[in-house]
Amino acid sequence: MSDVIHLLPDSVANQIAAGEVIQRPASVLKELVENAIDAGAGFIQVVVKDAGRTLIQVTDDGKGMSETDARMAFERHATSKIKDAQDLFSIRTMGFRGEALASIAAVAQVELRSRREEDELGTFVEIAGSRVFKQESVQCAKGTTFMVKNLFFNVPARRRFLKSDSVEKNHLFNEFYRIVLVHPDVEFSFFDGDEEVYHLPASNLKVRIDQVFGNVKRKLNQQLLSIETETNLVNVKGFIGRPEFAQKTAPQYFFVNGRYMRHPYFHKAVMLAYNQLIQSTENPSYFIYFEVDPQTIDINIHPTKTEIKFENEQALWSILSATVKEALGKFNVVPSIDFDREGVPDIPLHRESEIISPPKTIFNPSYNPFGTSNYKRPQMEWESLYTGFENEKSKPEKFDENSYEAPESQVIQSKMNIEEEVTGGIYFQLKNRYIITSVKSGMLIIDQRRAHIRILFDQFMQEMQLKKGFSQQLLFPETWQLMPEDLLFFEQIKTDLHYVGFDFEKEESGSYKIKGIPAQIKGTESVIPLLSQMIEKVKTATGDAVAVIQERVALSLAVTAALPAGGQSLNNDEMTRLVEQLFACQAHNHTPDGKPVMSILTQEEIQKRFQ
Ligand code: ADP
Ligand code: MG
Repeated sequence: MSDVIHLLPDSVANQIAAGEVIQRPASVLKELVENAIDAGAGFIQVVVKDAGRTLIQVTDDGKGMSETDARMAFERHATSKIKDAQDLFSIRTMGFRGEALASIAAVAQVELRSRREEDELGTFVEIAGSRVFKQESVQCAKGTTFMVKNLFFNVPARRRFLKSDSVEKNHLFNEFYRIVLVHPDVEFSFFDGDEEVYHLPASNLKVRIDQVFGNVKRKLNQQLLSIETETNLVNVKGFIGRPEFAQKTAPQYFFVNGRYMRHPYFHKAVMLAYNQLIQSTENPSYFIYFEVDPQTIDINIHPTKTEIKFENEQALWSILSATVKEALGKFNVVPSIDFDREGVPDIPLHRESEIISPPKTIFNPSYNPFGTSNYKRPQMEWESLYTGFENEKSKPEKFDENSYEAPESQVIQSKMNIEEEVTGGIYFQLKNRYIITSVKSGMLIIDQRRAHIRILFDQFMQEMQLKKGFSQQLLFPETWQLMPEDLLFFEQIKTDLHYVGFDFEKEESGSYKIKGIPAQIKGTESVIPLLSQMIEKVKTATGDAVAVIQERVALSLAVTAALPAGGQSLNNDEMTRLVEQLFACQAHNHTPDGKPVMSILTQEEIQKRFQ
């Protein structure tokens, strides 16, 4: 038999590659405008027709291309931006893969006009489906114009896959915003057909945000608080919305080194800072810009992906969280017991070779109460809290800070706070429901069930983040027959449920066998009502779906597993542990659904009663 393997022609290879990079008109806009930015343009004009289906045109006044470069630009892996693999780790340009133009030219009809300042004549190239039809000299302005016509003219399946005009336009605008918000010093114009829908003169960032998202009635820039933090790991700059202007939907943007990114985990940090300041259905605006050493991030995951991996994610989380809180003056706004925090987190400034000590965080990926290979369990019996305090024998264990290998532990920090503040660690339980102790300013009253809900909620969230929970196997597995219409919703939470310790096995009949449940839940009652309740909550989840769903799952679990509403007697050790764990939670003042966990009867109030 003869050999069967052969190389694909370039046109086919490019078309395959295009499937990755060019998914819709908005992808073309992104690639072309990014190229214009990389070419040092001061003015960029975008024109789209029919939501980009028939035309996407981008004109810039940047450095232009030579005759040879104009032709080379369409070759795959042709780029002027990096030379060797080493450059991959210090990327400062938007592009670097050298595959965008090749991909676009594989699936559209492209005309390029480009001239460098030093050349008298520019170059015209016409290329369609990877075939060059024409290349000649032309008179044209300095800079570059790309016209991309009839996208996917040769890939009918792709064309059919495009959504309605309004959806595609939305994508176009979103890509446009992601770029203009990083380059306020560049002038932009956006034509939808004959209508200029955006004209954004060069300005500063605050004005640029207003140009894009403000309107006559609402000046967005008056609603923004500026943030700025410089540390040796990261510089965080930008603007966040004042809580009183939060809305159902609000623009929320993260950028890193001038590149838009999605980052659900950092989003969480911002949202937590607004916790209690806005309603749970509202969203604050934010425009947050990170600058980090390019060596510490991986932007290379996928050409069209906007997720970015950070080396120091947890420290950044803490810095971001502290930055946002500081701007919100949250330490004053939210009731807090009088720990001497002096309002402002301590952020070290450019200290060489020193690990940043992050403020308390809820999700500490390096902290795992259940133990991993490089982690020694703290002396304290965390689990005894979960099991409903049955373990009467548990001894009060002194914290041994040396037993931690993880550099930072929430528990250590909370311990310090408490030792400073809660005098003597002596607790008194009232009516089997409240824990009372003395603090600097008076008498601290903690609702024990709510405290426990907060602790468990944070733990469940953490387990989902860590993808590792602690499961207890059921002696008698339960069989769960899901309604067909609930299956889809169950699929959405199945993985997270697995992370917190649920163990399911699908049976041939289509029902599920529940073999294990989270360690925190008492195994004596059926968990099916709880699971059904979670599915109901997932059905109504909107917004940032994954985060919302995780929160709902965690809250349902926490409410179920927490100390009973009817009260339960606790001994001093148990109270001590509960209080310590509570203060290890960042948002220890409130339950996840916003109910107060603690209250202080101040000395003045007490004095008044005796007058
Ligand atoms: P990349 O941006 O990853 O380098 P592209 O396929 O987007 O790859 O572009 C290939 C090359 O074409 C770029 O490296 C650049 O040299 C050149 N180029 C593309 N667009 C422009 C432009 N608007 N002005 C000047 N040069 C451009
Ligand atoms: Mg490019």
